[in-house]
Amino acid sequence: MDLIALLGLPLDANSSFLLGCEHGPAAIRESLLSASGNDANEASVNVTSLIEDMGNVAVDNERGSFLDADAITGAVDEQLAAGRQIISLGGDHSVTYPILRAFRAHHAELTVVHIDAHPDMYDDLDGNPLSHASPFARALEDGCVTTLVQLGIRTATQHQVEQAARWNVTMLSPRQLDRFDPATLHGPVYLSVDLDGLDPSCAPGVSHHEPGGLTVREALDVIDALPGPLVGADVVELNPTRDLNNMTAMVGAKLVKEIAGAMVARR
Ligand code: MN
Ligand code: MN
Repeated sequence: MDLIALLGLPLDANSSFLLGCEHGPAAIRESLLSASGNDANEASVNVTSLIEDMGNVAVDNERGSFLDADAITGAVDEQLAAGRQIISLGGDHSVTYPILRAFRAHHAELTVVHIDAHPDMYDDLDGNPLSHASPFARALEDGCVTTLVQLGIRTATQHQVEQAARWNVTMLSPRQLDRFDPATLHGPVYLSVDLDGLDPSCAPGVSHHEPGGLTVREALDVIDALPGPLVGADVVELNPTRDLNNMTAMVGAKLVKEIAGAMVARR
């Protein structure tokens, strides 16, 4: 059985408010391997045996760096060319655009399900086209995404509402979560989880606290409901400098475990 590739993307230079996400991959890995729990996911599958950790992608972590973006695209492309499913660990959310560029070369159509407090579709924020507030604008412009469904959005500016209309994006707030209908989605599917999509009470280790978010169980239910094949996923925006007793890192690791199980179940 092909192993799922785990890639760390230690980049936070495209963050707009706080640094710290650079250390996200290490914190999630530590929680994944923590002796506080065991290796089984909720389907009683041992998860680390499904995953091969490819280490961190070498990046300079410089603001607006297309070289860093190219390094990420190249590393993801290498795994996709080998026929592997990929789970990437952020890093700030800017990493998702270069990831999706790599997927474009391998998947003519791609449904992206995106959990986040924010739509991340700014045409421009602070003059940085690679900002963590813009990855989905860039990915849509470049034709990397066929269908984009956003869940947990609760602070869309009028500009971002217009961007969603322009690209026919389905944007659902936590209040509208029951309108999420996975039966209408077609694979292959990519899942992008910004940990600030969850409520800060269960995921405080993020740079942008936005109360009123998803519970961990609601996020797990989304993973459970995704149609296959689930070809890739990322868990981003963990900022360990803001975390409390590593609880957000543990949430990130939990998501990785259930995503890995879903990937194997739905190849
Ligand atoms: Mn966010
Ligand atoms: Mn985001």
